[in-house]
Amino acid sequence: MTGLDSHTILYGVFGDPVRHSRSPLMLNRAFAEAGVNGAYAAFHVKPEGLSEAVAGIRALGFRGVNVTIPHKVEVMAHLDEIDEGARVIGAVNTIVNDGGKLTGYNTDGIGYARSLKEETGLSLRGCRVLLLGAGGAARGVAYALAKEGAASVCIANRTTSRADELAAAIAAFAPARGVALDEIAGLADDVDLVVNTTSAGMHPHVDELPADTSWVDGRHIASDLIYNPRTTRFLREAQERGARIHGGLGMFIYQGAYAFEYWTGLPAPVAAMRQVVEQSLTP
Ligand code: NAP
Repeated sequence: MTGLDSHTILYGVFGDPVRHSRSPLMLNRAFAEAGVNGAYAAFHVKPEGLSEAVAGIRALGFRGVNVTIPHKVEVMAHLDEIDEGARVIGAVNTIVNDGGKLTGYNTDGIGYARSLKEETGLSLRGCRVLLLGAGGAARGVAYALAKEGAASVCIANRTTSRADELAAAIAAFAPARGVALDEIAGLADDVDLVVNTTSAGMHPHVDELPADTSWVDGRHIASDLIYNPRTTRFLREAQERGARIHGGLGMFIYQGAYAFEYWTGLPAPVAAMRQVVEQSLTP
């Protein structure tokens, strides 16, 4: 990068692995676009080094760090404060350093909700939601949709107990229940939005479906958190049956946009962020 000087404020992402991350590309473009003297790098932090890496945020005066797999849960033990959303979700993906006090946030779910609203125009207030999957990403999405005023959140997962457990955590914010994967076809008339939060269909397993979704059609918006491929089999087939579709790239962009906004207090230059990530995904 050009322009680094003795006033440059540092940022980064901690992960294991981390070399595939597009966050440095996206956030450095955001800093350049917004005229912020910042630099963002990827740090390969192993689990046994996490505690020292977090101490490094304080010692070196980083303003902020993103945390990715496998550190999103474990990092919480090393922070001074955890935002309500991150506490309910049980994971942190963004750390803000205020003069040595570290606060953990989770911007995945709110990033998803912002992307869904901006890209589909859907009003989430009163929306009836079916989530397929109950893993880490599902937790953020379920919380954000519940906070946005969803009328109901049904959660179906291969391991049903995890769906029930997530529904119980979300029930304080919206009517929520866990259902078995083989019950979902019966919900066709009772849901508006169907979200694949599982990894089924992600590259290289592009022919996988999260469940039998052959009933998703023009009554529904079909949404997938996966952005590689940009259009999963689930989305493609739902679109062929008349559903409106929404892919996962916007979630990635907006989780980074929220992090940028928490760190700098400036509106994120979302169009530039999206452009540089899209460019990097083009073969
Ligand atoms: P995770 O915590 O490992 O959870 C995986 C979920 O997928 C679990 O509910 C699991 O069910 C289910 N699952 C896995 N393989 C399946 C299959 N073949 N059939 C049915 N269900 C299956 O993973 P995660 O962190 O939540 O990530 C999930 C997906 O979201 C990934 O594809 C990831 O790339 C995507 N994601 C996207 C963004 C973004 O910015 N767009 C951000 C985060 C995650 P069991 O509980 O039964 O194992």
